[in-house]
Amino acid sequence: MPQKPIVYDAPTPERPAASVEAIQGEILERLIYSVGKDPIVARPHDWLAATILAVRDRVMDLWMESSRETWRTSNKRVYYLSLEFLIGRLMRDAMSNVGLIEPVRDALRNLNVDLGDLINLEPDAALGNGGLGRLAACFLESMSSVKIPAYGYGIRYVHGLFRQEMSEGWQVELPEEWLAHGNPWEFERRESAYEIGFGGHVEPVTDPDGTVRQEWRPNDHLLAVAFDTPIVGWRGARVNTLRLWSAQPIDPILLDKFNSGDHIGALEESARAEAITRVLYPADSTAAGQELRLRQEFFFSSASLQDIVRRHLQQYGDLGSLPDKVAIQLNDTHPAISIAELMRILVDDNGLKWADAWKLTRGTFGYTNHTLLPEALESWPVALLERLLPRHMQIIYQINADVLAEARQRAKFNDGQIASVSLIDEAGGRRVRMGQLAFVGSHSINGVSALHTELMKQTVFSDLHKLYPDRINNKTNGITPRRWLMQCNPGLTKLIGDRIGQGFLDDIDLLQGLKAHAEDPGFQEQFAGVKKANKQRLAKLIKDRTNITVSPDALFDVQIKRIHEYKRQLLNVIQAVAAYDEIRAHPERDYVPRVKIFAGKAAPGYWNAKLIIKLINDVAKVINHDPAVRGLLKVVFLPNYNVSLAEVIVPAADLSEQISTAGMEASGTGNMKFMANGAITIGTMDGANVEMHKEVGADNIVIFGLSTAEVNEQRAKGIAPAAAIEASPRLKEALDSIASGVFSPDDPNRYRDLIGGLRDHDWFMVARDFDAYVAAQAEVDALWNDKKRWNAIAIRNTASVGFFSSDRTIRQYAKEIWGVTATPA
Ligand SMILES: *Cc1c(COP(=O)(O)O)cnc(C)c1O
Repeated sequence: MPQKPIVYDAPTPERPAASVEAIQGEILERLIYSVGKDPIVARPHDWLAATILAVRDRVMDLWMESSRETWRTSNKRVYYLSLEFLIGRLMRDAMSNVGLIEPVRDALRNLNVDLGDLINLEPDAALGNGGLGRLAACFLESMSSVKIPAYGYGIRYVHGLFRQEMSEGWQVELPEEWLAHGNPWEFERRESAYEIGFGGHVEPVTDPDGTVRQEWRPNDHLLAVAFDTPIVGWRGARVNTLRLWSAQPIDPILLDKFNSGDHIGALEESARAEAITRVLYPADSTAAGQELRLRQEFFFSSASLQDIVRRHLQQYGDLGSLPDKVAIQLNDTHPAISIAELMRILVDDNGLKWADAWKLTRGTFGYTNHTLLPEALESWPVALLERLLPRHMQIIYQINADVLAEARQRAKFNDGQIASVSLIDEAGGRRVRMGQLAFVGSHSINGVSALHTELMKQTVFSDLHKLYPDRINNKTNGITPRRWLMQCNPGLTKLIGDRIGQGFLDDIDLLQGLKAHAEDPGFQEQFAGVKKANKQRLAKLIKDRTNITVSPDALFDVQIKRIHEYKRQLLNVIQAVAAYDEIRAHPERDYVPRVKIFAGKAAPGYWNAKLIIKLINDVAKVINHDPAVRGLLKVVFLPNYNVSLAEVIVPAADLSEQISTAGMEASGTGNMKFMANGAITIGTMDGANVEMHKEVGADNIVIFGLSTAEVNEQRAKGIAPAAAIEASPRLKEALDSIASGVFSPDDPNRYRDLIGGLRDHDWFMVARDFDAYVAAQAEVDALWNDKKRWNAIAIRNTASVGFFSSDRTIRQYAKEIWGVTATPA
């Protein structure tokens, strides 16, 4: 037997079994020797750091074993490139996945520390805006859980998504400081640092054999330094690495400047470098457009590509096997410049022929499209790319020439089609279209729900789809059931296990077994009991944070997500106004007591979104204080929506609002979290709601509103909303009251233009879907009054959520895009 290379089998010290005594000793040891605190004087943050370090230690053996296994087996690695990872807290997730919650809880109790308090002290890693970033976080956990060798690559922002506070009902943005107490999870890898260049010029160089190569000579350099975080899968199946890049100057201080008395100038280079990874851009579904953003994109793409190529060469010594051993997934177009960067590395740095390099590149990349909104499609001015990345601009031109030649010659495209597939947008100032670049440089282009994928084929990529008809495919999004069911809802998890056994923890499709119990009165009572307890907890949080008292017996009607006109929080709040008018006009009728709960952040520059937040708060103030309402309706806006807040709200929701204008929400993942936790969905036929409708059955979801085709028809024909408003007296009344200042007596014109937009063009079909929405809400009331039916439907929602597990999504990516093997379902 030949000896195995030592790197695969290095010894690691064995830890004792995770007994309470052992863990207790490890936490104390970390507190004293790593945090440097005497237990007598340790503060909560010291205990948190010590506990995280002890948990991290417990993950280390698995982490190293996972990495060794990949070297040993020569398995293909997946690299998930994402400018956003909306992770939230990690400690409970890691403890739960390796079965440490109970021993750690007991160990801490012996030390007079409460685990729950520590869990709530951990800051959220909010390195993302919303769904796209949260998807990346769910995927990381699922890739570890289904045993795929994978790396997440992103940016270690010093300031994640801003903290939202309310000032008289207006959103105020404050800096987020997740690193203020340090980050015990991460390992800084100073040895894994790469030089990143910007600017400069391109020089042709003649090699000794006579071939001419292009060489990029940047005039601006900085360092990308890696910070690694372990991501542990369910039952410790595997531990993968999240590698986040931090920008640092090559020279921390310019001593000659300092010595000549220019103390600020001496640090200028340092500040300029560090600015690149200082803040997350807070716009969701809008292209950022500034130079710093492009610098962020190239910085993290180049660092990741250099790291990937280095690792590949170290193991295989040859770039020809790249597509067999490496799969790179682009989460939206933000890392699309990677395609040009890999071409540069292959052709310029490694001397490959252009055509060979292109084949390898296309074989390696996959691209996920997340939105069709025109304002979200990234494009960069040619002049900016030329100045910042001159060699990449040349490469993009060359790729474009090849694609356009193929379109003319093979596909016989006409001028219009040529213009639509071109990487260069010629309409008004030439710009590089990152979506087109990502498409042509990838062997797979996927949408994130069945509907979205179809629309992609019909709209933005219709001509590229004609040119490359086998590339577009669908991968409907998912959520990890560990975080979004087991951890956030332990009461429901226990109840399910007691009823159908623990198998669902490992095979989420076994939840289907709950369907047989949906009508069982005893089970219904227990299911409703768990929901009630979760609602009591949320009611307390609402009281603590907003001082609004809500009854846990009322229907909790929840819309939590980024504030965006297409998501139609406005439709929801206008319905609240209409309900308020009705309660006062007809006090004699029976009403279902409701609490309308909103949460979500608006992009700082998105005026209408910020105004909608103010409107929700203005409406809340009036309704919540009007004695005529008799507590039948409450409106609550919970500030600072983030992953941790979602983990409290979702398990307490009765009704899940997924009411986007049809055709505009690519998938949605919030909808899936609510479904898992037994909320009933009121929604449009949009994004993954379409598939939820199919999975749970038409009787177990409340669908309303215009279809995508109907929305398109209204827009194409330029149909005005006037008729819809005229036909609906309650809509008219609600709009009039908001527009005339009933809810804003201090500034009666505050909402005039916002409501004016609905009367004028109503792009998002708020007015035209209003009556259908009110009717759907009446259906919800009727279901609520039939408690048996309500409970049965809620149970069937939980039972049907299996398809929306991100394990399923990841297995499909693995099989159909990446060509890697995952553990079977
Ligand atoms: C799940 C999630 C989202 C995405 O919600 P959608 O309803 O799909 O838009 C956004 N933000 C946070 C914090 C989330 O947890």
